Amino acid sequence: MTALRPEIVEPDGLADGPDLVHLHESIATLLAARGQWRQAYRHLRSAYDLAFAEQDVRPMVPEQLRREVDRLRREHAEAREQSLRDSLTDSYNRRYLDQRLVSLVAERGGGAELAIALVDLDWFKQVNDTFGHLLGDRVLQNVVELLQVDLPDGAFCARYGGEEFVLVLPDVDAAEAVRIAETTRSRVERHAWDSLAPGLRVTVSMGLACEPPAGDASTRPAVAPEQQLLRADSLLYSAKQSGRNAVAYREGGRVRLAGPASGRRGITEPRVAGY
Ligand code: GH3
Ligand code: MG
Ligand code: MG
Repeated sequence: MTALRPEIVEPDGLADGPDLVHLHESIATLLAARGQWRQAYRHLRSAYDLAFAEQDVRPMVPEQLRREVDRLRREHAEAREQSLRDSLTDSYNRRYLDQRLVSLVAERGGGAELAIALVDLDWFKQVNDTFGHLLGDRVLQNVVELLQVDLPDGAFCARYGGEEFVLVLPDVDAAEAVRIAETTRSRVERHAWDSLAPGLRVTVSMGLACEPPAGDASTRPAVAPEQQLLRADSLLYSAKQSGRNAVAYREGGRVRLAGPASGRRGITEPRVAGY
């Protein structure tokens, strides 16, 4: 990243005072965000001097200064986007998940439902042991692509850690969330894994926790997303204990498995009662 050196820039454009003040302020903000305090201070100082200068002369804004601001803005936006992505799978990361869950709660207010699915690859350690860690990495990349197919507006996938991912489905009711989760599970199961390595088979298990609209008199009060994630985790445990390659969710107070797995016997209740 080149250092910003406006003092060597040839002025070749015009703007009025407030415009130039604004430019200096923008540069100061961007530099401060990068921890370049000294340069940020210099620009703030220039903005201050300009704002309070008693002169009628229209100051000149170097075109190159404008370009520097645009470049810094772009780099800042890219760096911010990168800081919210997982480097292996390019899905959103835990930081993004935490931020979005907080803002979703604020947006929900008295409003819409929210479904959260915790997704865990089945027997993934065996995949690594049998086919190698590099192939395991490629499996994770492929799984993320499959998890993201046909997600509704506003929904997203984030890597929770290791071989665990979270699907967040805002404004989706329980029946639709079960349908989406089961379709996704089945898509992973049916994927042509053989093309990655002969004999490879990959499935996922999911715990799906659905919350009705906050304030709905017929249901409990809204729960915090962290608590909803805990519920999804407990349901994931049920899906694993009930034979894996399944979506576990709660309906009418009981744990159920979606799709063909619903016929399995001995569906395990979560470890913590009520979750
Ligand atoms: P289960 O069905 O109970 O979930 O079994 P599992 O083998 O998937 O579970 P376990 O937690 O024992 O193993 C998870 C494995 O995921 C172990 C770890 O090496 C692997 N893993 C986690 N992150 C990565 C990664 O980034 N790349 C690869 N290749 N493997 C990873
Ligand atoms: Mg795991
Ligand atoms: Mg696993």
